[in-house]
This record gives sequence, structure tokens and C-alpha cells, in this order.
Amino acid sequence: MAILVLGGAGYIGSHTVYQLIDSGRDVVVVDNLATGHREAVHPKARFYQGDLHDRAFLDSIFQKEKIDGVIHFAAYSLVGESMTNPLKYYDNNLCGTKVLLESMVANGVDRIVFSSTAATYGEPKHVPILETDVTVPTNCYGETKLSMEKMFKWTAQAHGLRYVSLRYFNASGAHASGAIGEAHCPESHLIPLILQVPNGQREKIMIFGDDYPTTDGTCVRDYIHVTDLAQAHILALEYLNHGGQSDIFNLGNGVGFSVKEVIETARKVTGHPIPAEIAARRVGDPAQLIASSEKANSILGWKPEYNDLETIIATAWRWHHTHPNGFQV
Ligand code: UDP
Repeated sequence: MAILVLGGAGYIGSHTVYQLIDSGRDVVVVDNLATGHREAVHPKARFYQGDLHDRAFLDSIFQKEKIDGVIHFAAYSLVGESMTNPLKYYDNNLCGTKVLLESMVANGVDRIVFSSTAATYGEPKHVPILETDVTVPTNCYGETKLSMEKMFKWTAQAHGLRYVSLRYFNASGAHASGAIGEAHCPESHLIPLILQVPNGQREKIMIFGDDYPTTDGTCVRDYIHVTDLAQAHILALEYLNHGGQSDIFNLGNGVGFSVKEVIETARKVTGHPIPAEIAARRVGDPAQLIASSEKANSILGWKPEYNDLETIIATAWRWHHTHPNGFQV
């Protein structure tokens, strides 16, 4: 039996595929390559290029391959873009997922692990954030992910499906082998943008706001290594395989770092002065997002290996330094 990974050519998807294959699993990857990279797909995975909206295509995969579990990463994830083009996010993250669910139900595949986000919480009332806290997204990306979770809940009830939703905090770092890493185009995430400075691709990093109610005034985030996120998907699938009930889990280290602290750590890792300049706040950014991952720890047995920011940035630097243009040579 094989595991179907949708979006397996993307950042977190490709790292999960590497880990699944390294642990001896048979893996089928589906990706439309809209934002993913063919080069990021593990050579031992069977790759099909196609789109979530294409019901006949999905049915053909379920009929050709013996799939007993699905991991779903195929979504758009840029907060800024979701605010200027919300319907693109509704179309892909919700309409696409709806077709996937129809195909799974029709083909008798009843287990799925999928990507959700800390953006489902919006501006938290307290940190660390618990899964039971209120969810009031401040951006359309978070809203579509929250709606996706609800679509799974009702579909699961009606059709006997079981799911795990993983709410990621800030995914970061790269595979220890140096073979794959983060490659978004355009890039909007803090750590890869900072590393463009020592790579000679950017003069300075802009700090979006220094008047937040945090210790140094810059936003605080919980940075979690992509390999640790990948491991959580495998544990979640095993949990479902052993009869676990549908559930939602936060994935973070439980420690927050400010934008200024991230820049300072990158200076230490790269040995470059990395000039920084204060700019206006970015719309929709909560001041602080820090996870409580106690639930993932106690129910899934998940324990992040990379719990220090310097090591996380060092793995990212290794990738970006050797692949300044991502997967393009
Ligand atoms: N950020 C920044 N400058 C940049 C990019 C991001 O100051 O050029 C800040 C952003 O406002 C947020 C934090 O860095 O507070 C992390 O942003 P990122 O886009 O990496 O992840 P997000 O928290 O939005 O998922």
C-alpha cells in the first residue's frame, strides 16, 4: 500500500516525502507544480503532475495506485496574496479540497492528514496557544484553512472518514542532506529573505514594525524546523492507522523569537553584518504566535529535534548558500 502526498513538490511536502521514503514507505506524489518544484520530489516517489480540481485525474490515481492514506499539502499559503486575491485562496484551498474529498469518499480512502496553520487563531488572547483557543483569523489564508478544517469535520461525520489537522507555526530550515530546502517565488518569509543579504541578493532586511507590544517591539514567532513538521505527519498517519479519532494539533517549539532576534542569530550563523531597517507594519500580522504543542507530544508522541534557532538557521543557510536560486541552476 502507498501513501499519497498531494503537494509533495512543495516545501513541507517534499521534506515529508523524503522522510517517508527514508523510513521505507511507498510514496505517490501529486503536484500541479504551480508553486512546487519537480526537482524537490524524491527520486524514489512515483510522481504525477495534475490538479486537485480535476476529479477524473484524482480518481485515476486512486484506481491505479493502492492508496491507504493521504497527506494533503496542496494549498496556497501567502498571507499578503490572500488579502489581495481572496478568491484564488477559496478556489484552491476549499474548492480543490472539496474535489479531493469527493474522490476519497468515492474511492473508499478514509484517512487523511492535512496542513493547517497558526493563522487560524488570529490575534491570540494569550500565549502559548492551545488548540481549544478561539479561532478568529485576521487574514483570508487563515480563514480558508479554518473553513477547510470544518469541511473535514462534517465530511468525516457523514462519510466515516478520519482526519488529522496540523496547525503549523513558522516552518523553517532545510533538510540535513542539503538536497532540498525552501524555494518560494516570490519569497516572502523572514528567514530566507534575511539570508538573501549574506548571499549578495539583497542589500538589507526590512523589519515590519517595531511598535508591537513585545519585548523589543518586533513580532514574535515560534520557528519550527521543517523536518520536525515532516515527522509529525508520519506520526499523525500512524495514529490514524491505529484507530485514532479525528483531531487537531499545534506544531511548534513553544519558544518565541522576535524578528530582531532572528536577524541577530542569522548574523551569528553567517558571520555577515546583515543591515536591517525598520519599515511599516505588515497588514494582518499578529504581535505574537507561540504554540503549545503539549497535545501533539502526549497524543502523537511528537517531540521536535531542532529546538534551537541557531541550528534551524544553520540548516537554512546551508541550503540557501549552496542554492541561491532555489532549484534553478
Ligand atoms: N517579517 C519582516 N520582514 C520581512 C518578512 C517578514 O519583518 O521581510 C516579519 C513578519 O512581519 C512576521 C515575521 O517576520 O512578523 C515572520 O513572517 P513570515 O512571513 O516569515 O511568517 P508568518 O509569521 O507571516 O507566517
